[in-house]
Amino acid sequence: MMSIEEDYEALIQFLYLAPVGLVQADIDGEIVMINPISAQLLLPISRDGNLSNLFDAFEPVAPELRHLCSSFAGSQGMICDALRIQVTAGLPGKSDPQILSLSLMKLDAQRLMAVVADVSLQVKRERQLRQNDAWFNAILTGISDYALVSLDSNGIVEDWNTSIGRVTGFTSESVVGNSYGLFFPTGSATADGLLDRLAEADANGWSLADSEQVRRDGSVYWASTMIAPLHLQECIEIHCPVPDPSYCLIIRDISDKREVSENYRRATACDHLTGLANRHAFFDAAAIELERMRRVPRSLSLILFDADFFKSINDRYGHPAGDVVLRELATAMKKTFRQIDMVARVGGEEFAILLPSTNLEGAMLVAERLREAVAATVLQIDGTKIKFTVSGGVATMHESVLGLDALMKRADQALYAAKTSGRNRIVSWHPDADDVRLKR
Ligand code: GH3
Ligand code: MG
Ligand code: MG
Repeated sequence: MMSIEEDYEALIQFLYLAPVGLVQADIDGEIVMINPISAQLLLPISRDGNLSNLFDAFEPVAPELRHLCSSFAGSQGMICDALRIQVTAGLPGKSDPQILSLSLMKLDAQRLMAVVADVSLQVKRERQLRQNDAWFNAILTGISDYALVSLDSNGIVEDWNTSIGRVTGFTSESVVGNSYGLFFPTGSATADGLLDRLAEADANGWSLADSEQVRRDGSVYWASTMIAPLHLQECIEIHCPVPDPSYCLIIRDISDKREVSENYRRATACDHLTGLANRHAFFDAAAIELERMRRVPRSLSLILFDADFFKSINDRYGHPAGDVVLRELATAMKKTFRQIDMVARVGGEEFAILLPSTNLEGAMLVAERLREAVAATVLQIDGTKIKFTVSGGVATMHESVLGLDALMKRADQALYAAKTSGRNRIVSWHPDADDVRLKR
């Protein structure tokens, strides 16, 4: 008969050779056992290839993990189940994004077990399926309560069916001849963004999005809008003059389904500590933005912020105080950036903001505004006054930048320059900065 110890040894042996990534760690994340598949997956993401602590190894791509684990109340159980972790953004048309799946179990008060797998391919397939699903649902479930509007090539309303009155409260006179932007609350859609959706419909056959919409009386509701091109293929075949393209816009009030989809979105796309978008949501949104930019070229900028001397804030005031500082930073960002900017926590004390239709100068200005606001803030935590600063790196999209990873790299180089030249400052990327990180 085998003793319990021998049993346990056999189990570990089995896990070590298992065809999935397994990591055993203590409750602080210190790694006790890591099998070759996990090592292969984790080495490229960990800083300096150091695999002694699970949380540290994951920190560059999943900063919320430590918090998730420490705030887990049970004495044992699943801390996260198949959490999606975005590693790279990939290059449109060239390489797919890399996504890992992580399940973390608390075995007892002292031990954690992690299962890691590369799910990049699976996620890609799921996304294709989801798009098809959304399309069919839109057709099948919304038959009775939708508004149908036809748009010209510039998104100006040409015609509509009477149901628009029921859904939106608008009358024919108030809609025809206006841009379809009038169905969106002020500030939530830009002229570029509206044209993007038309271009997206041309390229994909449709463009589907859930967002806030506004009724004629100013009340805001949650709606799903689908835009599809009305192709006049026959004209081309019989050689008659091709008219300007036109589109069909379908608006459905989905307020009743919102709570479910919003809860789901919050659980999968939000950073637990700050409530900002998480890294995964950031890369998702950025991929869509880059794809749009590829079709309709225009400016797009990226800011990376990193809190200065954050280690010493933790050391002097404690980790919980550090968390308060991170939340305060998130609040300042929500106040500073526009609704259409994508603000995300992408690392422990690192934040990324993607600014559509914004050039380098514009991005520098807002980044500077945030830096000043943060530097002027004094936090009171348990009677202690805490001041802190951030450094920022700014880069803008250019034909020499091949994708999101390259843009991130430039912003990161600029950030590094801001750090080395004294911190509490914003620096924009410059060609001379190209090799600067290699020297680090
Ligand atoms: P620098 O000015 O060069 O950026 O200095 P730094 O001290 O900020 O340097 P570094 O980036 O190495 O340190 C980041 C620290 O942030 C280390 C890590 O423990 C801490 N950190 C990461 N995530 C969290 C978190 O969720 N909460 C708290 N309180 N601290 C965190
Ligand atoms: Mg940092
Ligand atoms: Mg820092």
